[in-house]
Amino acid sequence: MRKKISLIIAAMGLTIMALSAQTYSIVIKGGHVIDPKNNIDAEMDVAVKDGKIALVAKSIDARQGLQVVDATGLYVTPGLIDIHSHNFYGTEPDHQYENGNLAIPPDGFTFRNGVTTVVDAGSSGWRTFPTFKAQTIDQSQTRVLAFINIVGEGMRGGYEQNSNDMDPKMAALIARRYRNYVVGFKVAHYEGHEWVAVDHAVQAGNMAGGLPVMIDFGGSNPPLSIEELFMKHLRPGDIFTHCFGQLDSREYIVDLNTQKIKPFVWEARKRGIYFDVGYGGISFAFSQAIPAAKDGFFPNSISTDIHTGSMNNAMKDMLTTMSKFLNIGMGLFEVIQTSTSNPAKEIKHEELGNLSVGSDADVAILNIRKGIFGLFDYTGYKIAADKKLECEMTIRAGKIVYDLNGIATPIMAPRIPAKSIARVQ
Ligand SMILES: [Zn+2]
Repeated sequence: MRKKISLIIAAMGLTIMALSAQTYSIVIKGGHVIDPKNNIDAEMDVAVKDGKIALVAKSIDARQGLQVVDATGLYVTPGLIDIHSHNFYGTEPDHQYENGNLAIPPDGFTFRNGVTTVVDAGSSGWRTFPTFKAQTIDQSQTRVLAFINIVGEGMRGGYEQNSNDMDPKMAALIARRYRNYVVGFKVAHYEGHEWVAVDHAVQAGNMAGGLPVMIDFGGSNPPLSIEELFMKHLRPGDIFTHCFGQLDSREYIVDLNTQKIKPFVWEARKRGIYFDVGYGGISFAFSQAIPAAKDGFFPNSISTDIHTGSMNNAMKDMLTTMSKFLNIGMGLFEVIQTSTSNPAKEIKHEELGNLSVGSDADVAILNIRKGIFGLFDYTGYKIAADKKLECEMTIRAGKIVYDLNGIATPIMAPRIPAKSIARVQ
C-alpha cells in the first residue's frame, strides 16, 4: 500500500515536472499572422504566457506549449474590436437598449466571431452607467468598454430626445470616475433640428480630458448638414458612425448623381474625422458602400451596431460585416486593420488590437471559406461573394474561449493544481 502511494506521488511529481517543462501556455503553429499595428503579414508562430503575448517568431518549438494550436491554412490576428455594440441587456419592459431586451449579453455573441473587445455605443448614459457596469461589464469575459450617452438615461426610446437630460458636466464626471471603462460619449437618435446633442457631447469630451464622441445622427427633416457637423462641430478624432447609411432623414456621404464621395467628406477625413461602419438595422446600404469603395474610400473602423434586430437581419455579426468589405474590394490586411488597431486608436486604447509582446493575449484565428455566398443589405440588394470569414478560435487574455473544430492539443487546457503552480514557478 505504501509502495502504491509513493508510486502515485512519484507519478504526480513527474506530471508536474512535465507541465513545468513547458515555457508557454499556448503555442499557435503554422498560421499566417496579420498584425497591422506591427506591420506583420506573414507565416509566423505565436506563443502565449501568463495571459500575454510572449513571442511572435518564424518558428516556435511546439514542445514548449502546454497547448498547441494547429493554425495551418488559417489567419492569426489580434482579437477583433467592435466599437459599436449594444450590450446593456436587461429585463425592464420598454427600456429598449438601456437595461432592456433589444440589447444582448456580449459573451454570447463575441467569441464565436473572434471579437474580444466591445464598446457599447451609448446604451447607458451618465445616470445609468453604474448599473451597466455592475450588470454587464463586471459579469463578462469579453472586455466591455463604453461610450456613454450624453442623455443621462441612455437609449431608452423617447428619452433620447430629452435635451434637458443632456448634462456635459455629469457625463464628464462619470467618465472620469470610470476612466478604465468609459472611452467617450455618444449622441444617438436625436431628431431635433439643432446641434444641442452634438455640442453637449463634444463639451463633455473636452471636460473629460479630450475623449472622443461618436455621432449617430438620428435623422431630422430636413436633414442636418453633415458638412457643418464635420467642419464646425466635431474635433479631429471624433467618430461618425453609420457612415454608409442612406436614409432620407440623414445626409449621406456619397453623392448619388456623381456616384462619388462628396468633396467635403475627403476634407473631413483629412481633418481627422473617423468614419465608422456601425452597420445596424438600416444604417448600411451597398448603394453607398460600393461607390465609396470604387472611389477608394474605405471605413476607418468596421463595427456591427449589434442588437436583437440587426443580428437577425442583414448585418448578422462582425465577420459577416467584415466579409462584405472583403468582397467589395477591400484587402484582407485592411479589413483586419479596421477591425483591430484602427478602432483601438479611435478609442485611445492603443495597447489593444495588436500582437505586440507583452500585450494581453487576445487573439482571433480566422478561416476564409471559398464558395458562393449571398451577402445582402437591408434593402434586399445582394452581392455575389466568393469568400467569407469564419472564426476557428478565439483566445481572450491567454485562455481559449472558443474553438470551433478542436484545433488545440490537448483540446482542454491541462489543469495544474494551484499548489503545484506555486511550486514550479
Ligand atoms: Zn447603435
